[in-house]
Amino acid sequence: MDCLFCEIVKGNIPSKKVYEDESVFAFWDIAPMAPVHVLIVPKMHISSVNEVTSENSAVISHIYEVAAQLAKELGVAEDGYRIVTNCGKNAGQTVFHLHFHLLGGTALKVEMC
Ligand code: AMP
Ligand code: ZN
Repeated sequence: MDCLFCEIVKGNIPSKKVYEDESVFAFWDIAPMAPVHVLIVPKMHISSVNEVTSENSAVISHIYEVAAQLAKELGVAEDGYRIVTNCGKNAGQTVFHLHFHLLGGTALKVEMC
């Protein structure tokens, strides 16, 4: 399997790591869309939200715990931030390893689509 984010998690492709534990990895987005733009990913390969099941969904709630912690550490918790997950073609998903964009550090556009 040829997955960019699996390779980043394994350290085979370099990234600017923000956080790591036994099940989650977070790193700065290579093409940031906001002053704070971090990607939070499960270490296990899940292609998209379409592949989330009762068997693997525990990591999703853990990702939100990590997001809350990182938002505080990165200084965006008080002013606010957005967490975005694109799923599939119409949403513009380009990397098919589930990931959560944590965006903040400025006033984000109100439009969602
Ligand atoms: P999405 O379009 O939702 O699939 O998001 C994929 C994100 O991965 C984009 O914001 C890219 O800028 C980001 N990205 C792609 N390659 C890398 C990389 N090597 N390191 C960090 N972020 C990356
Ligand atoms: Zn993967």
